[in-house]
Amino acid sequence: MTEPKEFAGGIPAVVSSLQHVFGETSLLKGLQALSALNQHGGFDCPSCAWPDPDGHRSIAEFCENGAKAVGEEATEKRVTPEFFAQHPIAELARQEEFWLGKQGRLTHPMWKPAGATHYEPIGWDAAFDLVATHLKALASPDEALFYTSGRTSNEAAFLYQLFARRFGTNNLPDCSNMCHESSGLALTQTLGIGKGTVTLGDFELADAIFVVGQNPGTNHPRMLTALQKAAKRGCKIVSINPLPETGLKRFKHPQEVAGVLGAGTALECLHVPVRINGDVAFFKGVLKAMREAGALDAAFIADHTDGFEALAQDLDAARWEDLTDGCGVDEALIREAAQIAIDAERVIATWAMGLTQHQNAVATIREVVNFLLIKGQVGKPGAGACPVRGHSNEQGDRTMGITERPSPAFLDRLEAEYGFPPPRTHGLDTVGAIQAMHAGSARVFFALGGNFLSAAPDTAHTAEALSRCDLTVQVSTKLNGSHAVTGRQALILPCLSRTELDLQATGAQLVSTENSMGIVQASQGKLTPASEHLKSEIAIVAALARSVLNEDWSPLVSDYDRIREAISRVVPGHDDYNRRLRQQGGFYLPNPPRDSRTFPTTTGKARFTVNALPHHDLAPDQLLLMTIRSHDQFNTTIYGLDDRYRGIKGERRVVFLNADDARERGLTEASRVDLVGHFKGQERLAPGFRVVIFPLPRRCAAAYFPEANALVPVDSYAEGSRTPTSKSIVVTLRQA
Ligand code: SF4
Repeated sequence: MTEPKEFAGGIPAVVSSLQHVFGETSLLKGLQALSALNQHGGFDCPSCAWPDPDGHRSIAEFCENGAKAVGEEATEKRVTPEFFAQHPIAELARQEEFWLGKQGRLTHPMWKPAGATHYEPIGWDAAFDLVATHLKALASPDEALFYTSGRTSNEAAFLYQLFARRFGTNNLPDCSNMCHESSGLALTQTLGIGKGTVTLGDFELADAIFVVGQNPGTNHPRMLTALQKAAKRGCKIVSINPLPETGLKRFKHPQEVAGVLGAGTALECLHVPVRINGDVAFFKGVLKAMREAGALDAAFIADHTDGFEALAQDLDAARWEDLTDGCGVDEALIREAAQIAIDAERVIATWAMGLTQHQNAVATIREVVNFLLIKGQVGKPGAGACPVRGHSNEQGDRTMGITERPSPAFLDRLEAEYGFPPPRTHGLDTVGAIQAMHAGSARVFFALGGNFLSAAPDTAHTAEALSRCDLTVQVSTKLNGSHAVTGRQALILPCLSRTELDLQATGAQLVSTENSMGIVQASQGKLTPASEHLKSEIAIVAALARSVLNEDWSPLVSDYDRIREAISRVVPGHDDYNRRLRQQGGFYLPNPPRDSRTFPTTTGKARFTVNALPHHDLAPDQLLLMTIRSHDQFNTTIYGLDDRYRGIKGERRVVFLNADDARERGLTEASRVDLVGHFKGQERLAPGFRVVIFPLPRRCAAAYFPEANALVPVDSYAEGSRTPTSKSIVVTLRQA
């Protein structure tokens, strides 16, 4: 362990980017990939969903993590049938994600027959026949699960949901269920749209930006560029987070001389170290102080909102001691944060999974919306709500209909376009899918991308659930933990990555994605595919339609424009899709709260809500633990074993503890502990973590995802959104 860093970016970020790209591939291929990354006419970064600038793009329009993601896809290493012959599945199951990912790109479709110890090669046609045999043998279409990860393009997602509904089920769990589902639900309830209401341009106008439960320096690093520009012109940045994160302290822009040679730019002017899940209490305090100061937009409240009276009564009744107890920071600090909001004409609130993965996550985000609404900070330049999505097309997949709870309006349009009655009963989300597999009521699991095992909660339970399926199918670019835990039979179907040329009958195809700010943009891969045997995700879904539904979707594969023509008729906001997609930078989807202060909620108004303070009755020896990402990872993909900004080197099984909590337990940085999770009388174990002393609030702890996922109970999830509570895990520590 070294000391946590005092700045993000700078020369270390450049060095790390180059090492990850050119350590995996040739100079020529690396340069080819990086020069197309996030460029007009190039491909969209396969990593996070932070937007690109609307106009001019610099020659290096990416961050360290984008470079790492590209390096992983462009790698020269290959996982061939010979590799699978040498490595039994049981051996793969013992490997860490880091090792699995470093083996390289998958080259051939592979099959694990029932009872086999190894994967063996299988032809594409035979693979699709196998899927068809299993799906057709089900007693009900609802015994099948069709999972999607945020890598999937709009076009592939649209076809995939169409396939699932033609087959007869709404069982479309996705990665959103595990991250921003709470944001979508809270924003739909309060603003009438399940998406953020700001654009990048708003970051150039904001007077204050509240960054809540979010670590942009690691999870969406180019956000630091927007924050740097804001800080330089005097915008106040407030971070509200249990951990002090280097990325919000100071940023050295790697593409600026001053950034490389100078001291960089200080970002946050105030850090509020709330305790884990203390956000409702904190924002209630801020709102109470704002109300006392008369810092309200009375006209906005009267014209555009409802529910203010109930909120006002709740704030008046709230006692400061309850609020300070609830968030773990004193009244003076809450008032200091409130004063920044009071003084600011334009305020943005931005957040990520620090808010979305608690039992009261939806209520927490509604409280953030209260904070915005009280001064009319929605639907005006430089202000608004900004949930930042973690995976590049997570938002677009949902827009395309990847949801277990489709709206009747969406299904009506699908029915009108395709002339079949889509299933109307709601399907299974991620938690429901795990429970159904475990109970034996779901028997085929098909994953279009992702690493379900490692992304999901309750690792041992999820592994057991997957292993009870008759067939598991993973459409993947690289080896991961989900290939090592299989149903009785299993398939690995290797697909093109975002960076690769997608050549079909009418020529090179482009796909599209929607970023966190609702901009739909084109993405066209440039690299030669890793293997001649790869198929695009679209070709794979079309082949499923042929083998399972006996339908010919090949014209759609020949020319993806035809898919977009259908999308333009089914999905609102995508009119004239093919032309507008080819405009430089793509196009913005309509956003009524942002565009016109129109709030399509149940009352037609933006809604203030009253949200209760959460209670965690921790026993004296218990801590509240949250999962976090290291700087060397993107979701379940582990690029390396360091977490440079937090001073961790060469290891991932660490638990971050407050110094006093460690001392009370007789622990030092030399100690090794097992983490024991507690939920409703059950215990879950994650063994072998080294203690790291870190400036966390008392009774709080943190450990990396996915290592600590074993502790997240599958039946502990957010009210309403059913997002697993990965940020509120009750644990004790046991000396290992
Ligand atoms: S900020 Fe996100 S989308 Fe942009 S280059 Fe970095 S990882 Fe990719």
